[in-house]
Amino acid sequence: MSVIYNRIALIGLGLIAGSMALATRRAGAAGEIVGTARSAETRQIAAEIGLVDRVVETVAEAVRDADLVVLAVPVGAMGAVAAEIAPHLKPGAVVTDVGSVKRAVIDAVGPHIPEGVHFIPAHPLAGTEHSGPRSGFAELFDNRWTLIVPAEGSDPAEVDRLTRYWQALGANTEQMDPDHHDLVLAVTSHTPHLIAYTMVGVADDLRRVTDSEVIKYSAAGFRDFTRIAASDPTMWRDVFLTNKDATLEILGRFTEELFALQRAIRTGDGDQLFDYFTRTRAIRRGIIEAGQDTDAPNFGRGVKKS
Ligand code: NAP
Repeated sequence: MSVIYNRIALIGLGLIAGSMALATRRAGAAGEIVGTARSAETRQIAAEIGLVDRVVETVAEAVRDADLVVLAVPVGAMGAVAAEIAPHLKPGAVVTDVGSVKRAVIDAVGPHIPEGVHFIPAHPLAGTEHSGPRSGFAELFDNRWTLIVPAEGSDPAEVDRLTRYWQALGANTEQMDPDHHDLVLAVTSHTPHLIAYTMVGVADDLRRVTDSEVIKYSAAGFRDFTRIAASDPTMWRDVFLTNKDATLEILGRFTEELFALQRAIRTGDGDQLFDYFTRTRAIRRGIIEAGQDTDAPNFGRGVKKS
């Protein structure tokens, strides 16, 4: 247990900030954690459950004397929040963010950062379909990756300190360039979410025809899409509006592959289907070997006894 930042200010008190608060406390990595959120309701819940040491009403109050300021709001709100905190930042402070898209956040936040304040973007690759101040938990980042995306010329000592902080929260860390980050995330997160949203939408349309069968027989595969498609609408709207190019590039490739498989089905090309599914099965094995998911059948869901 060693303090890495004397005072941490969390702007936004949802899933990610809440989990950071709990993991920071678990690690003893901060002298004090101050938090604020847009709505009085969220601030009140955070105070009630003791999510942070001190809940304050304004971002100005939150960032005053803070050594680390974490922007944990939807990507589309980052620029406005940065403009609001800028005049109140302590010289030498570090501003970071947890946004799911990096280039757009750098463009929106960077210009507001005053001289003498370090801006070091980051992105924890961990989350759930839940949101809000009650959804956080201390273990969220354990053995998951946090990508640190420093701009050229960032102070290496501060990049190192932020890296040690994320490691104290349980994360593995790696540095990445913003455009590469956005492309990697388009493949691993953004496009899969769009596909899940689409599949659930198609089934919802169909439900009007088949009544409740889509829900009743969902364990056949459909329910795994619904977990992803239950993710926060504001967050995901902002992801697609701000990671437009990379998502469209991956969606284009996805559509081509889909047409190829559609054609294989139409022409009865069993070899092509078999080879394709054999290749994709190996990817799942790689994820398990990398410790990024459970090897238990059906994601470790117990067998329900009747
Ligand atoms: P969340 O649980 O929905 O919390 C969002 C917080 O931002 C809330 O405190 C909310 O305040 C505040 N907020 C929303 N709109 C705002 C606005 N226009 N101006 C100022 N504050 C606003 O979201 P989250 O899952 O923690 O996500 C936060 C950030 O982490 C996002 O940038 C997201 O891309 C990124 N991220 C999310 C995940 C994930 O799986 N969820 C994973 C990695 C990174 P109120 O409660 O008062 O409305």
